[in-house]
Amino acid sequence: MPIQNSLQKGSQDPYVSIAQSQLISLGYSLPRFGADGVLGDETLYAYGNFLVSQGLRAPADERPRSITPTGAAALEMAVQAAGQAGATANIIDERAKHPHSGRSVSTPYRTWPKITAVVLHQTASKIGEKPASWHGVPIHFGITRAGKIIQLYDLTEVCNHANGLNGRSVGIEIDGWYAGIEGRPETLWQPKNLPTPRQPMNLPTAQADAAKAAVQWIVNAVAANGGRMTHIHPHRQSSKDRQSDPGSLIWQTVGLWAQNTLGLSDAGAAFTVGDGRAIPEAWDARYTGNRY
Ligand SMILES: [Zn+2]
Repeated sequence: MPIQNSLQKGSQDPYVSIAQSQLISLGYSLPRFGADGVLGDETLYAYGNFLVSQGLRAPADERPRSITPTGAAALEMAVQAAGQAGATANIIDERAKHPHSGRSVSTPYRTWPKITAVVLHQTASKIGEKPASWHGVPIHFGITRAGKIIQLYDLTEVCNHANGLNGRSVGIEIDGWYAGIEGRPETLWQPKNLPTPRQPMNLPTAQADAAKAAVQWIVNAVAANGGRMTHIHPHRQSSKDRQSDPGSLIWQTVGLWAQNTLGLSDAGAAFTVGDGRAIPEAWDARYTGNRY
């Protein structure tokens, strides 16, 4: 613990300037007073926003009147974690450039230990290479066909991407349309009223590698913040309407890779959430008899 007791508004404890510098390094600006060593309203406001982002305080709560030992420890961990996880992957950071309308209204933020799973999706469309085109997609990461990793939300934000898995998971959308089962074009989801039906896409190596790098980065970032990732799921497991999501190609290339390489689990042959469907044998040969 960086401090033993709470510091009240007006405190000039030597720790105050440390906390101020940490807030600034995490992107919470202190435009009027900066790191002046005095615990005033500006610092408490920034500190309060930091606590909200960590799931440690509700957004509607009053501004905090003190820095507590727990809050100071969270600040310390966040600064260290940013240094550890930051260098791993080449992430295009779009978090500050859109209104975050895909965030849960009832539970907008969660603490790090609540984050335990990755959910893989296919966009079933072509969102493209422009980062701004992804701003309306309610999910943490988008992976473009050319292999860009686009971050849209903090990992501590709860996004509406995977039904009953939202609370525990970080979502990754892989751009493109893919067959539910490779080699069976009739398992490709088709939008209504297209003049000619779509043909399933391939998964470019650059895109597959970027998706794997994103999963690895998420595992590292959660660990650096005191949590632990244990699972990876296809969206299919939490929604009957997402039978082909993300499809056998993405699941075998990224989902099985994450199980074999990173030790994540899909929670087994029978696992579903809500009205979801179990992983079929066509996606994973271990699950004999599981129908598509
Ligand atoms: Zn999905």
